[in-house]
Amino acid sequence: MRIVTRSRRKYNYSPLTNKITLWENNSLCEDIFNVSYIETFDYSFDKISMFTIEITQQCNLRCKYCIYSGDYDNRRSHNEQSFPSDAIPSLINFIASHADKSAPVITVCFYGGEALLQKDKIQKIISELYSLSFIFEFTISSNGVLLSEETIDWICSLPNLKVTITIDGDKLIHDANRVFPSGKGSFDIVMKNLKWFKDMYPQEYDNRVQFLSTVDSILRLHDLSIFWEQNPILSNHRPVHISSIIPNFPKGEVSDKTSFLKNQLVIYEEALTLYLKGEENILTDELKRLIGIIEHREFFELPKQQRFITCCHNTYSCFITSSGQLYVCEKFNEEFSVGTLENGFDKNALIRINQTFTQRKNSHCSKCWAKRLCRICATNLNHSTTEFEWFCNRERQKIQLALKYYCEIRDSRI
Ligand code: SF4
Ligand code: SF4
Repeated sequence: MRIVTRSRRKYNYSPLTNKITLWENNSLCEDIFNVSYIETFDYSFDKISMFTIEITQQCNLRCKYCIYSGDYDNRRSHNEQSFPSDAIPSLINFIASHADKSAPVITVCFYGGEALLQKDKIQKIISELYSLSFIFEFTISSNGVLLSEETIDWICSLPNLKVTITIDGDKLIHDANRVFPSGKGSFDIVMKNLKWFKDMYPQEYDNRVQFLSTVDSILRLHDLSIFWEQNPILSNHRPVHISSIIPNFPKGEVSDKTSFLKNQLVIYEEALTLYLKGEENILTDELKRLIGIIEHREFFELPKQQRFITCCHNTYSCFITSSGQLYVCEKFNEEFSVGTLENGFDKNALIRINQTFTQRKNSHCSKCWAKRLCRICATNLNHSTTEFEWFCNRERQKIQLALKYYCEIRDSRI
């Protein structure tokens, strides 16, 4: 893969070595190669450092893009089910026997629906977990509506408890999607709650509140960045993650390839200019995340057959639903359960996921120049082959951009 930067310097990325070198006149690019994946059968179930507990399936909002809206195939819809109190002892035993004893910290995330609807159960689980000999960090995933004064007092009274709130942008943008069942937007109430948190507990607010954001197009990042910097409640807390809305394929919600790349270039060009001026904002954060794809790569020559290791082998995370089903993470569709709280992990279910994913990788990825940098994981089995190809095209374009901006930044330092 060849990359040409703004200064017309040319680079070559070799998938065989994973190295980027200056492209000399006679250097050849090894675009064509063929590496297949072979399965590995080493499985471990006692190295988990992140447990995500679906404390409830109910939510007080009805966000229009929510995967639990009932509009998405193989995804549950909002309902009253919550984690049963009488299953808490099994949950504690499960965590005690599967948590990684060598991990410096074990993270437990409370997930929904709206997790704060089940505050009492969260409280009970946290106090039971304190009796185990691990260091825990707790995170509550919330839409921020129930952050009452009493709940904020409670959050600040518990050690190592953080809350993650989603804000999509200013009132107009946020309220376009994040609405109550009545259709009314949630922006005003969430911001009022956050203001109270920040005013009453400024230091705890800094330490305990983190933000997520969802955008329908990367072009939104420009306005999101301005809004965030100008808002006194948010300005020092840029989002830790910004996600795109997952297309609902059966409903035909798929944008075209050309505008995807064009829009990405608009935003990353702006981000690069700001980055080179030494500015730090949402745009430069996104640029850093993009080049992180390249920065974290490993250098070794690719063998003809590569052992294939996924999160379903060395399971480091586990999602536990309110009905006691286990998944490797919350992104998997319902059909990819890998066990139950009662009976533990089902190794055969994990083997089936890995075999299917290995087949998909071998039929699509063996000759792909981007395979060493690709982040498409086994959760993509949620999608049909045609849908997978849509994600695959996106990922390749993203990696191409990551290489380009990695080289631009390298160029600027010469
Ligand atoms: S707050 Fe979360 S779970 Fe609730 S409707 Fe919105 S996206 Fe879905
Ligand atoms: S970009 Fe597509 S073909 Fe290439 S490795 Fe990733 S999923 Fe496979």
